[in-house]
Amino acid sequence: MTPLGQLLIERIREGGPITVADYMTDCLLHPVHGYYTTREPFGTAGDFTTAPEISQMFGELFGLALAQAWIDQGAPAPFALAELGPGRGTLMADVLRATRAVPGFHTAARVVLVEASPRLRAVQGQALATFGVDTSWADTVDDLPDAPLFLLANEFLDALPIRQFQRGEDGWRERLVGLAQGQLAFGLSDLLAKVPDTPAFQTAALGTVVEDCAPARHAVATLASRIDRHGGLAYLIDYGGWRSQGDTLQALRAHAFDPPLAHPGQADLTAHVDFEPLAALAPAYAYDTQGAVLTRLGIAARAERLARNLSGDKLESHHAAHRRLTHPQEMGSLFKVLAVTRASAPLPPGFAP
Ligand code: SAH
Repeated sequence: MTPLGQLLIERIREGGPITVADYMTDCLLHPVHGYYTTREPFGTAGDFTTAPEISQMFGELFGLALAQAWIDQGAPAPFALAELGPGRGTLMADVLRATRAVPGFHTAARVVLVEASPRLRAVQGQALATFGVDTSWADTVDDLPDAPLFLLANEFLDALPIRQFQRGEDGWRERLVGLAQGQLAFGLSDLLAKVPDTPAFQTAALGTVVEDCAPARHAVATLASRIDRHGGLAYLIDYGGWRSQGDTLQALRAHAFDPPLAHPGQADLTAHVDFEPLAALAPAYAYDTQGAVLTRLGIAARAERLARNLSGDKLESHHAAHRRLTHPQEMGSLFKVLAVTRASAPLPPGFAP
């Protein structure tokens, strides 16, 4: 068992089973043993690869989409150019590089990065140092400034802790992490649990597990109220679906699936994002697959332009990256984009009626 696993076993022995959310929180963000606190999870050497790490086109296109929306809304200044969970800072770096030529955008932008890991904050600071744009960090979405908000979040919501509930004959019980033969094991609460009144819960069949991500609901409600009051646009990009049912907790370690209780703190833990209850919190929203949105934002033309300067292996991996981001059998369909806008705002760039 990992060092964090040992601590969790002691904690459960003394205090009883813990929720899946408590387990996820410790695994990802424990100050000493947490996955994001201690590890470099991204890229080929890490445990997983994300869209901005696959190709610069991802950040360029979403950056230009935000800049277009900023212009359409009258180029408000100053405004917050925010990102939730920026990882290595690659996405924001691509955004800033692509928007350099947009008149007034950089001078009006206050870059705000919401990041829990002190180690990753330092990595992000280095990635953005050369752009000369006013940059600060925030602990949570609650600390976003009261200003027009243009925001990106890629694979942030899937890292927020979920709770899991299972429907039984007499009501819902919470799925908990407890002990069996001295080892971490899933079980169900003795007491009945109160669950949110959302369609995924309402329509679940007997025996079905349904997940609730209260921190994701809080994050979206908070950014939505900023956009409602001051204007702006948020693109929330993640893997998941519209009405998620079933157990989707998954661990990734060295690019392979790992049982979620096997290596606490040493594997990435995520859950599918259930977009329906999040969209319900927006004044208005648009929703589509990542493949469809990137295609409408012009990824084909951008890919062709970049291809002109490439040859050999570089050209091949560029084509592979384009395919990986957009093809339905790769990330194109599994990943979705939820755009949060003001009520009665026009459809944001990347979406069609
Ligand atoms: N967006 C990046 C990284 C995704 S990994 C990319 O696409 O490559 C998730 C990121 O969210 C990491 O930077 C992690 O440290 C951060 N994170 C996870 N939980 C968080 C929380 N509760 N508050 C703030 N940041 C968090």
